[in-house]
Amino acid sequence: MDLTQLASVRTPRSRDELALAPGEVFLGGGTWLYSEPQPGVTGVVDLMTMGWVPLERRRDGGLRVAATCTLEQLNAIRPELGGTASPVFAQAVRSLLAGAKVWRTATVGGNLCFSAPASPIPALAAVLDASIKVWGPGGKRRIAAADFVTGAGLNALEPGELVRAVDIPAAALEARVAWRRIALAPLGRAGVFVAGRREASDLAVVVAGARARPGVLRFERMPEPGELAGAVDALGDWYADPHGSAAWRRAMAVRLAGEVRDELEGAA
Ligand SMILES: Cc1cc2nc3c(=O)[nH]c(=O)nc-3n(C[C@H](O)[C@H](O)[C@H](O)COP(=O)(O)OP(=O)(O)OC[C@H]3O[C@@H](n4cnc5c(N)ncnc54)[C@H](O)[C@@H]3O)c2cc1C
Repeated sequence: MDLTQLASVRTPRSRDELALAPGEVFLGGGTWLYSEPQPGVTGVVDLMTMGWVPLERRRDGGLRVAATCTLEQLNAIRPELGGTASPVFAQAVRSLLAGAKVWRTATVGGNLCFSAPASPIPALAAVLDASIKVWGPGGKRRIAAADFVTGAGLNALEPGELVRAVDIPAAALEARVAWRRIALAPLGRAGVFVAGRREASDLAVVVAGARARPGVLRFERMPEPGELAGAVDALGDWYADPHGSAAWRRAMAVRLAGEVRDELEGAA
């Protein structure tokens, strides 16, 4: 552990105990937080002790995924909870470059808040039209998943706010969803994710990894291949780092979006 200034680890049991003191940050699984120096961090507030139910069907048929749900728990979702969309949860988890040890510990909220281009949970939440339930000093609020990540490693949380849950509407759980991921090397960190959701005649396509923040495209009918390729291309702002050049990411985003479209074309 590289947190050399750490003086306290708090284990809250109620909402009142979630107010951050100066120098404190929230702790999910700690797979990133404990993996590198965090200058100025003198305390962590461990969200795992809040005892939130990891996965629950809501009265309206939607699915609540707690911020503290681990990636392993998300990977194991069955159709009773995840509906027709179930397979995409495992596809998203397996898109993260990590093994079982990290999956067992890393959380949905941690991946969302890490907000890296290579983070699959923001893309999963966006393609499932989720809303992010946020608790903070100012009260509770919701952020549309598509608007949560605002840049590479940046998100819409205000100081002191935390992610409580990702709420997925019932209609999205019964939609057909397709997922693609590509990396420069077979075991490399993901460079591009493209996901699509077909609900009735509507198509939503999320382009992530290729850009600093996910781009969401919505169509009221199945677009022609050229129309979709043009819309993906027009997203622009292609990201570049050692895991892929901007030109490669743009090309792969267009190609994978076409594959997602083709997979969903026949879906009712
Ligand atoms: C071998 C390895 C491979 C990895 N590969 C990837 C990868 O391919 N893609 C990727 O995205 N990441 C990767 N990571 C980084 C990290 O493990 C994941 O992003 C993981 O999902 C983070 O989840 P966590 O619960 O461990 O978060 P933590 O490390 O606990 O926290 C991450 C950040 O989110 C904040 N946070 C956590 N939960 C909340 C919450 N509910 N509300 C508000 N803030 C919160 C923390 O303060 C911290 O800033 C990898 C890590 C390792 C060790």
